Amino acid sequence: MRTIICGQFKQETNRYTPGLSDENVYRERECFWGEEAVREHFIGTKVELGAFFDQLDACEECRLVPVMALNASPGPVTAQTVWDLVANRLLEAIDTQQRVDGVLLALHGAMVTEEMEDGEGELLLRLRQRLGPDVPIVATLDLHANVTERMMENATALISCDYYPHTDFYETGLRAARILWQAATGAAKPVMAWKKLPMLFPFVITDMGPIVPLLKKAQALRENGTLMSASICHGFFHSDIYEMGAAVLTVADGERVTAQKGAEELAQSIWSVREALMRKFYSPKEAVKLAMEAETGPVVLADVADNPGSGATMDSVVLLRQLLDMGAVDVVFAAICDPQVVQQAKRAGVGAAVQVQLGGKQAPEITGGPLCCTVVVEKLTDGRFRNQGPVFRGVLVNFGECALLRIGGIQVIVCTNHAQPCDLGIYYHCGINPAEKKILAVKSAVHFRAHYKTIAKQIIDVETPALGCMRPQMLPLAHCKRPIYPLDA
Ligand SMILES: [Zn+2]
Repeated sequence: MRTIICGQFKQETNRYTPGLSDENVYRERECFWGEEAVREHFIGTKVELGAFFDQLDACEECRLVPVMALNASPGPVTAQTVWDLVANRLLEAIDTQQRVDGVLLALHGAMVTEEMEDGEGELLLRLRQRLGPDVPIVATLDLHANVTERMMENATALISCDYYPHTDFYETGLRAARILWQAATGAAKPVMAWKKLPMLFPFVITDMGPIVPLLKKAQALRENGTLMSASICHGFFHSDIYEMGAAVLTVADGERVTAQKGAEELAQSIWSVREALMRKFYSPKEAVKLAMEAETGPVVLADVADNPGSGATMDSVVLLRQLLDMGAVDVVFAAICDPQVVQQAKRAGVGAAVQVQLGGKQAPEITGGPLCCTVVVEKLTDGRFRNQGPVFRGVLVNFGECALLRIGGIQVIVCTNHAQPCDLGIYYHCGINPAEKKILAVKSAVHFRAHYKTIAKQIIDVETPALGCMRPQMLPLAHCKRPIYPLDA
């Protein structure tokens, strides 16, 4: 019998978001301690931990020991107390076992804590120091990981998802679990290589443009057996750390030269298309005009920069104000995070008209402040539902208490928790059929595309002033190593 310790610790840190991601913030999304709680939440889900269970519980020789599963919405730096707690629980779990044959973690790769620029690298280092050089440590990463030297030095294999929207966390988890098991049983000897690119990706969507053939190439290297794994990490520039940017990670069985060659070749191919990877965004005025002129709906207006999935405040009303000013009707806006307005609506009750100061509260110097208007309360919900779309499928999400408000021809979903409305469940749970609407406005950069494209006639990316801006040129990046494209030619 072999014992494998597993767990999840994920957060994508936006250093520009005010506040602190403490345990309460983690609890809003996922914060489970101990085997029972972790299994109960994740068994059957199509994310990494669901895959770990599916893959390794089926091995008779494997005893999988889940320790914790934490995941905070992208946002401000993680509290050091949370990081310390996770590290201590993992080390304790290792110490209480007679022997440990491997550690398998679901990480993000862009975590900054109050005291650490490289949360994952530090965690892997602690584990490596405790386990010694021979016990395999395998981790999955989000493709928005900023991979660092320390992460590379202390993991046996790092494996990121391929797609943005992230529709393949489950497959990534399966791959990682297989590699971990092969390493733990001696069936393979994974060796890792990488090539860091001096380049910041502008939130590249993976099902269009020049990234498509590059991903196919990486997948072919895995499928034809040349490599055990090949990952393209885009990096996350809102973390603003020294070792920021894109990277290619490869894993080969026993042969470092093969792994290194694969990484170098893929990195060279990415570098050669760097200009073509840049994206086009519309102003709110252009976008609303295009949406209103469209013959059929739904037209999706993505408020890409106020994406809670990048740590933005999710309370900008710039796009909403534009829709109102131009007289758009048959619109649903999902969603604006404003707990105060939700409570006001709750006190007033369904059917009541209320005077509110909606949104624009968390970073008014950037987003321009709230919208003062009268709204009618149409519905109140608990904000909980299970995702049906391809991103985080099957996972129970929690927007906190929500209010569906009407302002003229526009319905606005106002939520309590900071969570990305990338699943159409946000509309269904309010009793709205989004497919019947002319315009859907959504606070999401890319994830929404996976589910929304099943009903959207057109998708328009709108750039508003917000903390999740999509172009690195818009941020006063202070820590990252230079030169780096596209900040430097
Ligand atoms: Zn990501």
